[in-house]
Amino acid sequence: MVIDVTSIVKYEGAKLDFMLELKPPQFTFNGIDVLIEAPMQIQGSIVNNGSNLQMQARVNGEIQVQCDRCTAAMVEPIHFEFEELFILDSEGANKDDDSIVLNNHQINAEHLLCNQLILNLPLTFLCNEQCKGLCPECYADLNKAPCNCNNKQIDPRFAALKKLLDE
Ligand SMILES: [Zn+2]
Ligand SMILES: [Zn+2]
Repeated sequence: MVIDVTSIVKYEGAKLDFMLELKPPQFTFNGIDVLIEAPMQIQGSIVNNGSNLQMQARVNGEIQVQCDRCTAAMVEPIHFEFEELFILDSEGANKDDDSIVLNNHQINAEHLLCNQLILNLPLTFLCNEQCKGLCPECYADLNKAPCNCNNKQIDPRFAALKKLLDE
């Protein structure tokens, strides 16, 4: 899906409002599979500043991921705003710049959304702040019931102290 900016590229100060619904393909983020089952909304405006087009947009949707601790399937709501610059004159574009050089007066909305999602996803996904996770030995889900493993881990600082006391 593309956003066609032909109508504003020639006129400094011109503004284009847009509202799209699209569903990026599944992707992997920090080793986690991110699934998007329902289309996400991307809504905003693009203003012609003369040498560039400035986009301001907001993304709303949800993603399907797994809890980092217990691996349960969970839904993470996604809401963020972003700004992006598109350079109109590719001759004068600074290659070191993060800005995107615009070709054919078209913005690839799917590509843009995928990049922005990766920049804006949380670093951890937790089904619940108090999620107890899985037992490191038997992999039982400790949210459901404690397991029978003797996995009371000793804090390394106390372990060092205990060693001193034992000596
Ligand atoms: Zn969990
Ligand atoms: Zn266990």
